[in-house]
Amino acid sequence: MKIAVARETREGEARVAMVPELVGKLTALGWEVAVEPGAGLHSLLPDEDYAEAGATVDEAALEGATVVCSVQPLDVARAAALPAGTSTVSFLPTRQEGELVATFRDGGVTSYAMELVPRISRAQSMDALSSQALVAGYRCAVVAAGMLRRFFPLSMTAAGTVQPATVVVLGAGVAGLQAIATAKRLGAVVQAYDVRAAAAEEIASMGAKPIDLELETLEGSGGYAREMTEDRAARQRELLTPYIAAADALITTAAVPGRQAPMLVTAAMVEQMSPGSVVVDLAAETGGNVEGSVAGEVVRIGNAQVWGGRNVPSQMPGPASRLYAQNIVNLLTLMTATDEEAGASFAPDPDDEIVAGCCVTREGAILHEPTRQALE
Ligand code: NAD
Repeated sequence: MKIAVARETREGEARVAMVPELVGKLTALGWEVAVEPGAGLHSLLPDEDYAEAGATVDEAALEGATVVCSVQPLDVARAAALPAGTSTVSFLPTRQEGELVATFRDGGVTSYAMELVPRISRAQSMDALSSQALVAGYRCAVVAAGMLRRFFPLSMTAAGTVQPATVVVLGAGVAGLQAIATAKRLGAVVQAYDVRAAAAEEIASMGAKPIDLELETLEGSGGYAREMTEDRAARQRELLTPYIAAADALITTAAVPGRQAPMLVTAAMVEQMSPGSVVVDLAAETGGNVEGSVAGEVVRIGNAQVWGGRNVPSQMPGPASRLYAQNIVNLLTLMTATDEEAGASFAPDPDDEIVAGCCVTREGAILHEPTRQALE
């Protein structure tokens, strides 16, 4: 029973799916852990640390593996080389990865997608969307603070008083709340808006001021937001304009599951911001909350510098990897059966809500219904 930790091959990915600190948890469960050389290098985790923790570091780590884990999905060529019956655990955005999903299906590989782990209480410790959103939210606030050429906090000094910066956060899910908490800790005055009814209380609990636009709230299923109608979107933009014009920093983190990120802020709204203001758009990669933002780049719109997020959790690869690895350990613990006589075995229960929820392919079939419908 061997788990292989793959070296990431996708451009710009600095995280790794397992950290030396947690290798012992897997070996205690009965797993042999094999790591591809250099897998942890971008997260500043050298091969020696994995070896010291009890893993083997081996170029042929994937050979004979029961489970292959990674952060980004394997590339198609590596997936095609896996023998039938192998399992993979990684993020697997099935909409963009149709060819890979078909390769898993045709090769008899069982694939589990971390973003499909159901967001139920029992699965909280396996929820990689949340753990990575936490890192991204923190990073957004720190980027905004770093780009802004003024203090976040109020500073009362012998040389006079410096007023605090005003930060507006749009979207107060996991990432947005973490951005709020971080900006607050740095001393900024923070205001935030989210379409979900529960959000106002969550925003206030972080010490920020909820922006009340007196619009209907948009609850979707599973505690997520619903998509806005174009009328609602236009009205929201109009009402948000004065808040954004008065902000020194704007951080946007809004998302709607399965859809492009909603466009919350037009270029004309950004143009009303003061000289030196900054905008951080975490959603730049998925369509952008801010018109004109570009993922991975800083562009100028009016007086503002607009930073577009691109694989933001990977910009803090050490902590992001540590949290992701814990999510993996917790999921594998659920999937490992221990029997005093027979020993440990990899035995995911297909009827378990968590296992069933995140399983994309198994035994030559696509089990994730939306993906099956899209591909077959
Ligand atoms: P997400 O990444 O899908 O979206 C981010 C935020 O954008 C959400 O809060 C959403 O309401 C907001 N948003 C969408 N459209 C918007 C708009 N037009 N204007 C302003 N904001 C908009 O969400 P997420 O951070 O993954 O989580 C969303 C919800 O799920 C939260 O309520 C969170 O507490 C809950 N959650 C539950 C669990 C669990 O029970 N295990 C785990 C994680 C998150």
